[in-house]
Amino acid sequence: MNVLFLTPYITDFSAYDLWLRPLGLMQLAAVVKSRTSCRVFWLNPLDRYAGLENLYDPDDGRGHFYRSPIAKPQCFQSIPRFFARYGWPLTVFDAYLETLPPMDMICMTTLMTYWVDGASFTLDRLRRHSPDAVTVVGGILPTLMPAASKREIRADYYISGPGENLLLKLIQRIGGRKLFKPRPSRIRIEDFLSAADPAYPLLTSRGCPMQCSYCASRLLNPEFSERPVSAVIREVRSARRSRRHFVFFDDALLINKESRFLPLARAAAEMNLCLHTPNGLHVREIDSVSAHALRNAGTRTLRLSLETTSCDIHVRDSNKADADTMRRAVDHLLEAGFSAAEMETYVLWGLPGQSLDSVHATLDFVENLGIIPRLADYSPVPGTPDCIRLQDSGRLGRSLDPRHTNKLFHLLQTSGYSGSDIRAVRTRCRGIISRVRNCRSC
Ligand code: SF4
Repeated sequence: MNVLFLTPYITDFSAYDLWLRPLGLMQLAAVVKSRTSCRVFWLNPLDRYAGLENLYDPDDGRGHFYRSPIAKPQCFQSIPRFFARYGWPLTVFDAYLETLPPMDMICMTTLMTYWVDGASFTLDRLRRHSPDAVTVVGGILPTLMPAASKREIRADYYISGPGENLLLKLIQRIGGRKLFKPRPSRIRIEDFLSAADPAYPLLTSRGCPMQCSYCASRLLNPEFSERPVSAVIREVRSARRSRRHFVFFDDALLINKESRFLPLARAAAEMNLCLHTPNGLHVREIDSVSAHALRNAGTRTLRLSLETTSCDIHVRDSNKADADTMRRAVDHLLEAGFSAAEMETYVLWGLPGQSLDSVHATLDFVENLGIIPRLADYSPVPGTPDCIRLQDSGRLGRSLDPRHTNKLFHLLQTSGYSGSDIRAVRTRCRGIISRVRNCRSC
């Protein structure tokens, strides 16, 4: 039985590969390969390292996707920006498809809810290649918007939430019990990373124990669960033979740090690795010990989760970082040897009810700290209290179009900010970044 695991194209106004690796799909593909005798195939047009020379920056795994301008969906017509499909040129995609045998099953993940057009486009293209394949759609879209995913993407099955058990049952129903190995082999996600990709996606825990009103973590992973640190260290030891950059995909890397992150960091310090934390770290957890551990382990990308200094919003985000906590965390990190220019913090903007004054106040604070602000554009996540608030206020429809959760659509159409307000915030943020980068003493 031939089973293809598929990552869809992105369709958006902009997209950047900040270590975007479809880790959930890799884990599923690895489980199916380990537990069954299915022939497992992999197709990820977002993989910039799969034979597309010159399209990547080979340094650390981040970079620009190949971009093909396409027509905007109807609901974006009033947005004065170009729209594009991000991922391999179609000629490369089709040439790769020609090397594949017909599939019996195609399992496609979905990433952002508002990339729905890329998902339906990709699956339709696969259907032309394997018209008889059973098609399964999982990931974020069917989990957060089950009705919309059925409306928008034509497939045989939709999986909401964790897919492993359902997928194995489906394989058994289609191919029979005989497909299952008496003894599963080792699960290796490396089989689904290009050899040239310098970055390895690492997950030490799932979910987050906090409950911020804008975040999907609790909806995607209702329980916070942690892997045994010994298993994580074994995985890193094995993967470091071929890669040097390790990227944490955790939502809550530093929670319970004594039993998980700190032992891992001690082991990593012996391995000469480069660590990256693109998901912001909880600043409350950064004390002298964890700051030194981050430094000694080789952390190269250090992003913190300040989000805002507004007390009104802290009520909605579990009070995860106030100004004093942030100042203390930055002091510990400076003392551990990070420079201010090596520290970045997310500044969330566009939240329902968030004034522009509050965004500027947060930027004032970050500018005074002397570290780099990274604007995180809020996008409504279906099912979260903040999204429901937008629906209650009439700014978003009750029967939500997944495209309306697009972050640029939200900023321009539903946030209440004007175009000039938005430009002013972005320009100001760029100015702060360039001042921090050019500051010789930072
Ligand atoms: S702390 Fe971060 S990951 Fe956890 S719920 Fe809040 S935003 Fe989500």
